[in-house]
Amino acid sequence: MKELQKRVWAEISLGHIEHNLAQLRRWVPEGCRCMGVVKADAYGHGSTQVAHTLEQAGADYLGVYCLDEAAALRLDGITMPIMIFGHTPAQYIGDVLDFGLTQTVADAGSAAAYAQAAKADGRTLRVHIKVDTGLTRYGFCATGTHFEECVQQVEDVCRTDGLEVEGIYTHFAVSDEEGEFNHQYTLDQYALFQRLLERIEADGFHIPIRHCSNTGAIVYYPEMAMDMVRAGNVLYDLGDEEDRLGLQTTFTLKAKISAVRMVDADTYISYGLTYKTRQPERIGIVDAGYGDGLPRSISNHFRVWTKDGFAEQRGRLCMDTFMVDLTALPDVGEGDTVEIFGPHASIHELAAAAKTIPEEFYCSVTKRVPRIYIK
Ligand SMILES: *Cc1c(COP(=O)(O)O)cnc(C)c1O
Repeated sequence: MKELQKRVWAEISLGHIEHNLAQLRRWVPEGCRCMGVVKADAYGHGSTQVAHTLEQAGADYLGVYCLDEAAALRLDGITMPIMIFGHTPAQYIGDVLDFGLTQTVADAGSAAAYAQAAKADGRTLRVHIKVDTGLTRYGFCATGTHFEECVQQVEDVCRTDGLEVEGIYTHFAVSDEEGEFNHQYTLDQYALFQRLLERIEADGFHIPIRHCSNTGAIVYYPEMAMDMVRAGNVLYDLGDEEDRLGLQTTFTLKAKISAVRMVDADTYISYGLTYKTRQPERIGIVDAGYGDGLPRSISNHFRVWTKDGFAEQRGRLCMDTFMVDLTALPDVGEGDTVEIFGPHASIHELAAAAKTIPEEFYCSVTKRVPRIYIK
């Protein structure tokens, strides 16, 4: 094959990711570390390419969910600190040590098992302690009547041979959502985290890297940056009209119009007969579908950007194709490129049509779609 056919493809702008990191740096207080979150293949962008970009651009840490993701980055030559947010079964702790990774500790049982595994090898495992202040997912539970027990458990981890506690963190539930209740909930989570840190500090345990902010808190509660922020969405420009940081689009999905045809009035289009023309329509067939990661639920509810403006989508989206109305766009034709999302066709509109969030969209773009990297 001479070159990629480019039926449907993703253009990933590494330069814009670098720009977004620089904007983040300017936004957070001096001395605050910036972690770039590259889990889930860097939100669909491609984790090794994004990790190399972040490493060269001077990010302080990378965050992934699991050991396999971290190991892949090490094998690809990434040498900067990498943290695993999720659980790693103790039997794999040897790999975590070999790869020089930082492991999250979220409960007492894992802490003990990790310490034992590290000591058996005569080594020390670098960890960050995860505290649950109201997300109710994993982590040492600090809420309500569990506070004192949480203090004891965190201090026990700090005392454990074989573990080096480099950091401690919590995660917010609604820092990106509007409304007084959500605002108060976030303030309460933060206050609880502070109270815990003050207690363990008073008891003589100093943990160097304390962190709580992901994108929502980075943007709306900049005073909560502490020693490090964990930035996912911010790097991938999932900021919307509320974008306060001056971010640039990193992920553009494009596809080709493979054919154009005239369709008579009163004609049904595509499976399920969900759309019927009222007048003759000039219909373009776009070469992308749910096999490329576009959810079928957006059928009839989105539009694509063409060189002459927007074209409404018609009828049910198929595995490999969907139809658009080009009646008002006579100069758009076979072989032309459309933008499904990107700088013109808003990912936020598309996500709203699918009743989801942009990051789910990015993560859903399938392997069939080649990523083309632009510096
Ligand atoms: C995914 C994740 C992040 C990044 O969240 P964004 O909202 O995308 O910035 C930060 N911290 C943890 C623990 C995560 O799992």
